[in-house]
Amino acid sequence: MKAYLSEVMESIQGEGLYIGTRHIFIRFAGCNLRCKYCDTPASVSIPEQCNISINTGKNNQVKQIQNPLSVDQILEIVNKYSSKWVSLTGGEPLLSADFIYNLGPILRENNYKILLETNGTLSKELELCLPSIDVISMDIKLPSFTNKNYFEEHEAFLKKVKQKDIYIKIVISEENSMEEVDHAVRLISNQSINIPLILQPVTTNNIIKNKDIDFLLMLQKKYLQQLKDVRIIPQLHSLINLT
Ligand code: SF4
Repeated sequence: MKAYLSEVMESIQGEGLYIGTRHIFIRFAGCNLRCKYCDTPASVSIPEQCNISINTGKNNQVKQIQNPLSVDQILEIVNKYSSKWVSLTGGEPLLSADFIYNLGPILRENNYKILLETNGTLSKELELCLPSIDVISMDIKLPSFTNKNYFEEHEAFLKKVKQKDIYIKIVISEENSMEEVDHAVRLISNQSINIPLILQPVTTNNIIKNKDIDFLLMLQKKYLQQLKDVRIIPQLHSLINLT
C-alpha cells in the first residue's frame, strides 16, 4: 500500500497546543475542502514528486522522490530526523486513512508519538485510524470560509473522538458572523467543556489585522463562559518567516 505525499520535513510546530515543539511533518496530498484562507494550497493537489527536506531551517535543502511512497520508505525518511513526534497533516490526511491504518502501528513500534492534524469532517475514516493516534488537532471550519456548512460532519467527528486527547482550532477573522462561531463553540461544549479551543487569527502576507485581534479578544472572553481553556494563538511560521 502506498500514499501520495506533498512533503516530509522536520520543523517546529507552528500552530495549536504544541506550538514551538519539534515535529516531523508527513504532509498528505489532496483535500476534500477548498477553504478561503488555505495555508497549504500546494497540498490540495496531487503531485508526481514528494519533497523531502534534508535539514531544518532557512538553509533547508530539498530532494524529490517519486510518488506514491510506501510505509517502509516513509519510516526510512522519518528515522533520519531527530524528533519523536510525527505530525500527520495535509491537505487532509484522513483521505489516506487506509494507509495511516498501516503506517500508524509501525511508527508507534518505532517509539514515535502521532499527532493527527485534520479538518474534522471525515468521521468514518477517523474511526479506522484512531487506535494509532496519540493526539488530535481538529479544525472546525466556519461556513463563511468554506462556502458550505460542515457542522454536521464536525459533530459526527467529535462523537467518534471519545477519550482521545484533542484540541480544536478555529481560524477566525472579523468577517465571520457571531452566529457561526457560536454554533461551532456549542458543538465543542456539547461534547466536553474540557476540550481546549484555539482561536487562530487569519494571517495574510504575515500580517494580522488589528480588527481581527479585537474580535478574537472579545470572543475569548465570551467563550471562556462555556469552555475551560480558550486561547488565541497565531501561526508561528508566518510570524518568524519559516516554512
Ligand atoms: S482543509 Fe486545510 S488543506 Fe484543505 S483547503 Fe482547508 S485549509 Fe486547505
